[in-house]
Amino acid sequence: MKTPNQEFEVSFEFFPPKTAEGIEKLRETRKELAKFDPEFFSVTFGAGGSTRDRTMETVLEIQREGYQAAPHISCISSSKAEIRDLLQAYQAHGIKRLVTLRGDVPSGEVSAGDFRYASELVEFIRAETGDYFHIEVAAYPEFHPEAKTPAADLLNLKRKMDAGANSAITQYFYNADAYFRFVDQCDEIGITIPVVPGVMPIYNITQLARFSSICGAEIPRWLKMRLEEYGDDMASLRALGVDVVSELCEMLLAGGAPSLHFYTLNQSATIATIINNISAAAD
Ligand code: FAD
Repeated sequence: MKTPNQEFEVSFEFFPPKTAEGIEKLRETRKELAKFDPEFFSVTFGAGGSTRDRTMETVLEIQREGYQAAPHISCISSSKAEIRDLLQAYQAHGIKRLVTLRGDVPSGEVSAGDFRYASELVEFIRAETGDYFHIEVAAYPEFHPEAKTPAADLLNLKRKMDAGANSAITQYFYNADAYFRFVDQCDEIGITIPVVPGVMPIYNITQLARFSSICGAEIPRWLKMRLEEYGDDMASLRALGVDVVSELCEMLLAGGAPSLHFYTLNQSATIATIINNISAAAD
């Protein structure tokens, strides 16, 4: 059951913890976030299979707790045989939803494997397992850094839908217009699957700036400058972050976003405040 006044759906993304302490902390995080009755908890996957076992263990633990668990699965540097094994393992455990990605080659490594793009992985999953899985794919309102053009990137999302994707989750962004324009353009080229905004809370400006430069998400200048102004004053930085992200989510939902997917970084408190703010504002 959702908390009172929460009239929107949410999902939460975790990374698979490495230590016993991390595993324990994630259990606590899940307990807190479960109060918002998420559609699913997803667990990331290191490109090339580097977190394969930890992703699987985390997903199975979530499932044992009675929640819907969605492993991410990335194809770069993987063979068809490896992906087939993974799909069979997830099917054997009754996992029904996958977040399906290309992944990024760790710097310095050469990409080898049977897949070049996520659309090929979606096609392979459908060929191997039919309609068994609900397949999520990635979308980029501010466009993927390697995309030749915005139009080519949109067509890539269409290609993933045509290959069998059921819904998309976006890269994070702080500019609601980027999402709304993207969704309009999806509409124009016949992308009919739900495009769920991915929401990144603001915990730390250095970390956020590093992530954003890699994934091509823009931190608006006014926001970056205001966050930087706080320096080491983490309490003020987080308070501004909560205000900005709560407002962004309110705008997205008011503008028709189908639900919200939170990048949790395995933490719950900031996200709980944001969700409570959104619910209170809708009251
Ligand atoms: P693709 O859809 O294959 O696109 C990659 C690039 O290739 C794009 O620029 C696209 O326009 C271009 N392209 C696609 N097809 C063609 C074609 N036929 N010809 C020419 N160009 C083409 N990474 C991880 O490693 N593990 C995770 O768990 C993970 N989870 C994520 C979850 C979400 C919600 C998101 C948004 C991203 C996640 N990522 C993860 C990051 C993702 O792997 C990277 O953004 C990666 O660079 C691209 O993945 P993709 O699935 O979007 O790739």
